[in-house]
Amino acid sequence: MGKIRLLPDALASQVAAGEVVERPASVVKELVENSIDAGAKNIEILVQRGGIALIRITDDGHGMNRDDALMCLERHATSKIRTKDDLEAISTLGFRGEALPSIASVSKFRLTTREPEALSGTEIVVNGGKIASVKDCGEPPGTQIEVRSLFFNIPARRKFLRTENTEFSHLEQVVRTQAIAHPEIRFALVRNERIVFQLPATTDIRERIAGLAGHDLASRLLEIKKQTHHGVTVSGYIGPPGMGQSDRRKQLIFLNGRPVEAAMLSYALREGYHTALMKGQYPVTFLFLETDPSAVDVNVHPAKREVRFHDGNSVRDAVIAAIQETLTGAMKRPVAGVGLTGMEKPEAPLPADAKQADLIAPAEAHSLRNDWSGFSPQRTDPVGSTNQPSSIETAERTNPVDSENEPSSFETEQPPMRAEDYRLMGVLGKLYVLLEHNEGLVLMDQHAAHERVLFEEMRRRMESEGVPSQGLLTPLMVELAPKDFDLVSQNVETLGKLGIAAEPFGGNTLKIDSLPTFLKSDDPEAFLQDVIDEIRNDSDRMSKMRLGEDMVATTVCRHAVKANDPLHDAELVKLLADLLECEMPYCCPHGRPTLIQISYGELDKKFGRKV
Ligand code: ADP
Ligand code: MG
Repeated sequence: MGKIRLLPDALASQVAAGEVVERPASVVKELVENSIDAGAKNIEILVQRGGIALIRITDDGHGMNRDDALMCLERHATSKIRTKDDLEAISTLGFRGEALPSIASVSKFRLTTREPEALSGTEIVVNGGKIASVKDCGEPPGTQIEVRSLFFNIPARRKFLRTENTEFSHLEQVVRTQAIAHPEIRFALVRNERIVFQLPATTDIRERIAGLAGHDLASRLLEIKKQTHHGVTVSGYIGPPGMGQSDRRKQLIFLNGRPVEAAMLSYALREGYHTALMKGQYPVTFLFLETDPSAVDVNVHPAKREVRFHDGNSVRDAVIAAIQETLTGAMKRPVAGVGLTGMEKPEAPLPADAKQADLIAPAEAHSLRNDWSGFSPQRTDPVGSTNQPSSIETAERTNPVDSENEPSSFETEQPPMRAEDYRLMGVLGKLYVLLEHNEGLVLMDQHAAHERVLFEEMRRRMESEGVPSQGLLTPLMVELAPKDFDLVSQNVETLGKLGIAAEPFGGNTLKIDSLPTFLKSDDPEAFLQDVIDEIRNDSDRMSKMRLGEDMVATTVCRHAVKANDPLHDAELVKLLADLLECEMPYCCPHGRPTLIQISYGELDKKFGRKV
């Protein structure tokens, strides 16, 4: 007799569970997906001790009859696909038929379910994969699943769970994400008997975002006008230039209603934001993509998180185009000078076991607290943070024409600000230009402003005749490392547009005949080395044009006015006018703000004239 044996069913399920059920958040993800697939209009999620002790999900979906209720606990039992063709064009969130048996094999599990017309429902109790009881019950129509003592029978896994707060924070992120994807469903999340959020059904995605991330944040988002490129439809809301985050929690992308991750999509977002965001920051996006389901493979990852596109380039290009168009078209106002703290959540209740909570490292505790409601703009607010509505909102009230056209309370279209509307008051600390405006005080960072102006000018020139360059009396011979030499040789054309005339000159030597006129440096070799470093860093980027832009951004920055260069009033006025002429005036090429506004409303508040 051979050595190979089939695993008993319960054990096979536990093995499979290792892939699907990693932590309480994955249980919630699978169960909420099932409720959505069942057509629920209401989904309630109740958890205790971060989901480790109890997760209870109640929905009002189509429920199951007794046969199906028993069947759904079998491995690979699903109502969602039948044939290979179905697998190739999946329109539901689930399709593997693995979640319920996996979850039931690693917990104390109770399922009650009832079809709307049925006289009674069914209750099934399963302990660690073994059915303990099956009976009739009188629950309301829909399905309720209780998962207690997760991993009670797999101590090795249980050990890998983090603190209750950490587990809860992952779980909460899952619910938030699903709630954004399905504003038409009412969601409620309850933790240790306290309501964390309760979101009424709505048809307005922005309303839903506001419910989760606060009205301030939602009102600053830019709407992507629904558009289709190469069969990919893009819509949603994204943060304006300069609104960045240090993590990806608010970088959400949905494909056909499913939250997805793909390195290519993150790349496309970065590329779309490009100079509108500081390096190392992640954009805020609520991006909805729609494609023909057969154009994408969702059957890549056990938890169905990752997707593969048959034609990734089209998706990437569609995302980049939509973001760039939205950022350039809609950014008409300076960054508000208030800390965007969003609508604060009610104080989190003290966890049942305060000791566990104490275990959280301070940094982590901070990130948990700041989860979605704590939102800060990139530059620290000069007058401290308030919960005040942003200038956009304030201005909106004085603009009845817009609100008539657009009933949404989130209208952000504003007339562009013109240089004539500002009065120069002086310069603070040789850097910040003080400007008076009918809405209040505006501060301009003269260095950042100059960078933006130069950057756009350079870019215009690169696109047309190229950056003006100056011939060198004696050509410069630069010996490069073989790798760098190859890199530069491949980018000679881009360098040419930047005003650097370079050609290979035998071996790994490069001959430089001319350099850009704007270059004031007296060490051209160091400048070249900078450019090469920049090419190296960016060589994984795809477009040559972009490569050029990045180099412009960095080189320009070094040659723009220094912070303390005194400028005459006339020069400052000209700088402001040039800035406001820019395509994206309100941030520098690195995404830092160029203008910050402190409205009269904020000042009144600070001085206690208004509450
Ligand atoms: P999948 O979702 O991949 O089909 P699951 O193991 O998650 O696999 O669920 C198995 C089946 O159980 C589903 O196909 C569905 O028919 C049924 N089911 C699960 N949850 C619910 C629910 N909340 N309401 C109605 N039916 C459900
Ligand atoms: Mg499922």
